[in-house]
Amino acid sequence: MPYKDYEQTKANVRSHYHRKKAEDPTFIPKLRAEIRQRRYTQKLRVFDYYGGKCAHCGISDYRVLDIDHKNDDGHKEGRGRSHLQSGLCSGKRKWEDYQLLCANCNRIKYYEYMKTQGKVFAIAE
Ligand SMILES: [Zn+2]
Repeated sequence: MPYKDYEQTKANVRSHYHRKKAEDPTFIPKLRAEIRQRRYTQKLRVFDYYGGKCAHCGISDYRVLDIDHKNDDGHKEGRGRSHLQSGLCSGKRKWEDYQLLCANCNRIKYYEYMKTQGKVFAIAE
């Protein structure tokens, strides 16, 4: 449903939030749990899409897997905008621009990228 008046809708949502927060002490914890659950579900969906393992070394331990910007352009997106998994699930981001990497492979990829930018000293070699 398109918004007739974006500012009015925003004000309504905000007043609903503050009313519920004042009325119900469990509102905020429930809301946070819902958000956490939604993000977790989206993350699982993303992990499933990419085969549930690191694209480089194949490790499948979800605790160490990250969603990686394939083209080293994550810095262009800015910080704190939204969660990658929600952008992918909603269609705002393209699946082919990302991959799953484990923390180690992601760190090594970042190091190699920084080397190409002349921004690392050769202490690790
Ligand atoms: Zn890996």
